[in-house]
Amino acid sequence: MYIGVDLGGTNIAAGIVNDSGEIMLEMSIPTLSERAADAIIDDIKSLILNLIKEFGLSKNEIKGIGIGIPGLADADGNVIHCVNLGWNDVPLTSKLKQEFDVPVFVDNDATVAALAENFCGAMRGAESGVLLTLGTGIGGGIVFGGKVYSGFNRVGSEIGHMVIGDNFYDCNCGKNGCLETFASSTAIIKYTKKLLEETNEESLIRDKINGDMGKLNAKIIFDCAKAGDSLAEKSVRRLVKYLAIGIENVISLIDPQVIAIGGGVSNAGQYLLDMVIKEVEKYKNYKELPIGKIVIAKLGNKAGIIGAAMLCK
Ligand SMILES: [Zn+2]
Repeated sequence: MYIGVDLGGTNIAAGIVNDSGEIMLEMSIPTLSERAADAIIDDIKSLILNLIKEFGLSKNEIKGIGIGIPGLADADGNVIHCVNLGWNDVPLTSKLKQEFDVPVFVDNDATVAALAENFCGAMRGAESGVLLTLGTGIGGGIVFGGKVYSGFNRVGSEIGHMVIGDNFYDCNCGKNGCLETFASSTAIIKYTKKLLEETNEESLIRDKINGDMGKLNAKIIFDCAKAGDSLAEKSVRRLVKYLAIGIENVISLIDPQVIAIGGGVSNAGQYLLDMVIKEVEKYKNYKELPIGKIVIAKLGNKAGIIGAAMLCK
């Protein structure tokens, strides 16, 4: 049995995961991210101890602990940088090893999710796969031969920060034109808000949010687009266009067997997928040659726990 921990800005979810990537028991607690790193790490330790106790295991029956973080970690499991948590240079692995005498691995959450999708999800068994998680930002994970690839300095696979055009607002990273400012849930909300504010165009969205822009979310926009609302469709088409350009860049660089789209935006499902596949065809380099499969990710928010545990394998 392995322990997988999905450390997020809002919640910490952890689970006991077996060799097949199945979650046998899962628990979660709020992160309360404004606290100091040590307090959060103490909570992670308690959460793992509770899981082990509840499942009837002892500490030495655990083969390893994997942790996915919304940031960057080095090969020794030091968290170098984690914006959402305000962490810089936090020795996460060595702090956990004070409590648990097992191997501990730390990696980026999208990278970990890619590993899970490759092990038992939408990219199962693929010799090469790329996962794009379209949430508040865009995460990227690359898997070759069952192993994650993050680059020489582990700063690779940041697909969300590939610059693909000029945009009307800057990315959190300080640049302008990052993929995540075009194709994340934040991006489609910002663009739709701009359309609603700058035009008088009629839209179902106006009824749904009743004048309160704070109520606007990606689901409302996609639902209205599916219902044929032209303003919502304009927003969705823009997202699809830039997402397709981003995917085509990934194909030009890696040509993976499978590209999976996950994160909250992927809840738009087949509707989104059909448009993206069609759009990628427009941009692809070799029109006469095939490209890898583009699919919707399967494991949802379970990918974080499963993939973190699979880091130990
Ligand atoms: Zn960026």
